[in-house]
Amino acid sequence: MSFRATILTLYPEMFPGHLGTSLAGKAMERGQWALDTLQIRDFTTDKHRTVDDTPAGGGAGMVLKPDVLARAIDHASENDNRPRLLMSPRGKPLTQKRVRELSSGDGVIIVCGRFEGVDQRVIDGRNLEEVSIGDYILSGGEPAALILLDAIVRILPGVMGNDLSGLHESFEGGLLEHPHYTRPQIWEDREIPAVLTSGNHAAIAKWQKEQAERLTRERRPDLLDKLQGN
Ligand code: SAH
Repeated sequence: MSFRATILTLYPEMFPGHLGTSLAGKAMERGQWALDTLQIRDFTTDKHRTVDDTPAGGGAGMVLKPDVLARAIDHASENDNRPRLLMSPRGKPLTQKRVRELSSGDGVIIVCGRFEGVDQRVIDGRNLEEVSIGDYILSGGEPAALILLDAIVRILPGVMGNDLSGLHESFEGGLLEHPHYTRPQIWEDREIPAVLTSGNHAAIAKWQKEQAERLTRERRPDLLDKLQGN
């Protein structure tokens, strides 16, 4: 069975977005993954099709109603064991490890928040896993869902063509990746490091490892701490 994503959103027209183009789009055409959307508003029962209401306790903005959202989630997860995710700045920061886990499953159900967010009771009652894509606030969960799916789809078997290239990326080995170069050999007086054109594969591997360690030490010492189990 191929990977299937179901997106719950008030803006289904934002999908598949960029995932309909390039490698992800071609993989979708080949049937290697599929995406469907559910319009949350279709699960309202009142005449005005209301999806949000004012926050209990007062304050700015609006909150997505739990009853409407729960009906949409229940519809999506009928006879379905896919993980139910909620894009949320309060969620666990997304990592390549979690991306890998999700990409090896049947798919995902993703709820995209809007306004101030969603009623806490639906998060608890439907066991939503909150996922954050970083410490900043977007206006809605849709771009976050597209980013999560981009990361998942590119490592699905057969999508990238050269499956090996995925294994050497930043984060995969716990380090940032080494720098890259390509022709011309000299550009604006800058030369490609000689070792890379030496043909000495052992020396190249050693240089790449040193560079990866140097960059990680300079930019992301937190990753090194994690590697060393601190
Ligand atoms: N009031 C909320 C932010 C709401 S932003 C708070 O302060 O926590 C509106 C919606 O955008 C959220 O419900 C969520 O679905 C999405 N969103 C915003 N920032 C995000 C982030 N960093 N990661 C994932 N989703 C995000």
